Amino acid sequence: MLSTALVQEIDRLLKAGELPQRTIAERLGVSRGTVNAIARGHRGVHGREPIRDEVEVEHDLFHKTLMQRCPQCGYCVQMPCAICAARAYRQRQRMSRTLLSTRAQANRPTHSRPRAMSDLAAR
Ligand SMILES: [Zn+2]
Repeated sequence: MLSTALVQEIDRLLKAGELPQRTIAERLGVSRGTVNAIARGHRGVHGREPIRDEVEVEHDLFHKTLMQRCPQCGYCVQMPCAICAARAYRQRQRMSRTLLSTRAQANRPTHSRPRAMSDLAAR
């Protein structure tokens, strides 16, 4: 059962006319059918206030205030996005590894070349 506040928010967004129903549904975590029903007036703009315990309320608050859709990866995350941060980190690691192996390859011939006997004899 949706809360009155949620139903009213859906109604408000629908009336604002800025977002497609699908986006409203995704953003508020309700089905598109629900949004559509409210849009077509099949569902009254009222809800039932659920009986919730404090933990649930807090959890909800946590999500509504902290969770956002990351513009980069599209996941619903706490910003700054840890997923993008991890991806960037891995990308950097991959790059530096490539860089290192490139350097190692460039250095290898001088390092691994066996010393000429004449070199040794000169010492
Ligand atoms: Zn992200």
